[in-house]
Amino acid sequence: MRRKLIVQKFGGSSVADVKRIKNVAKRVVSYAKKGCDLVVVVSALGDTTDELIELANKINPEPSEREMDMLLSTGEQISVALLAMAIHKLGFEAISFTGAQVGIITDSSHTRARILKINTDKIKEELNNGRIVIVAGFQGATLNQDITTLGRGGSDLTAVALAKELGADECEIYTDVKGIYTTDPRIEPKARKIEEITYDEMLEMASLGAQVMQARSIEVAKKFNVPIHVRSSFSKDIGTMIIKEVKIMEEVVVSGITLNKNQAKITICNVPDRPGVASMIFKELSGSGINVDMIVQNVSHLRQTDISFTVNKTDVSKATKIIRSVARGIRAGEVLLDEDIARISIVGVGMKSHHGVAATMFSVLAKNKVNIEMISTSDISLSCVIKKKFAEKAVKALHKEFGLTK
Ligand code: ADP
Ligand code: ASP
Ligand code: MG
Repeated sequence: MRRKLIVQKFGGSSVADVKRIKNVAKRVVSYAKKGCDLVVVVSALGDTTDELIELANKINPEPSEREMDMLLSTGEQISVALLAMAIHKLGFEAISFTGAQVGIITDSSHTRARILKINTDKIKEELNNGRIVIVAGFQGATLNQDITTLGRGGSDLTAVALAKELGADECEIYTDVKGIYTTDPRIEPKARKIEEITYDEMLEMASLGAQVMQARSIEVAKKFNVPIHVRSSFSKDIGTMIIKEVKIMEEVVVSGITLNKNQAKITICNVPDRPGVASMIFKELSGSGINVDMIVQNVSHLRQTDISFTVNKTDVSKATKIIRSVARGIRAGEVLLDEDIARISIVGVGMKSHHGVAATMFSVLAKNKVNIEMISTSDISLSCVIKKKFAEKAVKALHKEFGLTK
């Protein structure tokens, strides 16, 4: 009979120091003792990735993306070796690999590469040798053997992709909270752990700022129907299952509240109101690989209008440079930059079939004297851009109003 195969991923906080690495080793070994085959994906220790980015920026504020990947991939290389050593110390066989070594082939879009193919031969061979296989998360290599990384939080993607490719029986994501909560428990301690959540809702929450899972990893899980169990590396409790359909009969209207403080708003004033102008602006941005999120165009006044949009903070300087040049070209007015914003969102599949949700959200913000600067909607979410200083207060108020508090 085939042994049960489990893919386990441990995030940076789970391996932040020696004690925690030993804790992870014990946990992994406890499954090996039960007779399971194990593929363990690990992130860089604690805040290593942030520290490496800071270091690079001190050397060159606009580092080459290829060299950035070379640098950032070292974080995970440290963790896998240390975890292998910790498992050896417990008397078990383990072997660590980089993404490139286990055949994770990606395209060449450095810092946000896409996985093209995974050759699992090496992993299977080592599992057959009775070893626990430890894989560096967040990385791969191009066919030309250039090291790439998979975007922030990319170890989640490594784990889900490996679980799919290996046909694993379980995919467990271990982190520093007990599962997916109705909102970030660091902001609202009264947040409730969710037992089951659909791929669609999790994807929306992740895209709108719930950093607990990387959005791209959920896309892959949804596409290939890989159930994910998100749980704590510090407790034995069952966490949250991310699956296709949940058991509850009646959907709750709002399942979660998210906050994203990593965006900035750019406004181009007095844009000539004629066909082709918006296309010109956004073509330039997408041509430079910049993702634009919310877009708002005001009512035209004297054949001129203001256009505002948000981008990730990491793209702000590149985006403003491009937009200033486009604005001159189309004879628009000033370009304004606001980094003091936050995007708060409510998410829930139940929003499709219930009305009045938007009105409730706006009235909660109004009651709390929070001004709304931008609004955007999707099938299962509603977002508002507000001043950053009101962010936490707004999250708590919405969490309470939509009945999510425990
Ligand atoms: P890891 O290092 O394990 O990858 P992350 O820091 O990426 O962990 O993600 C875990 C963190 O995500 C939690 O500590 C929590 O503060 C935050 N978080 C944000 N939104 C949520 C949510 N809805 N449910 C659970 N955690 C959330
Ligand atoms: N270490 C990488 C990051 O901080 C990948 C990960 O943690 O998933 O983004
Ligand atoms: Mg993470």
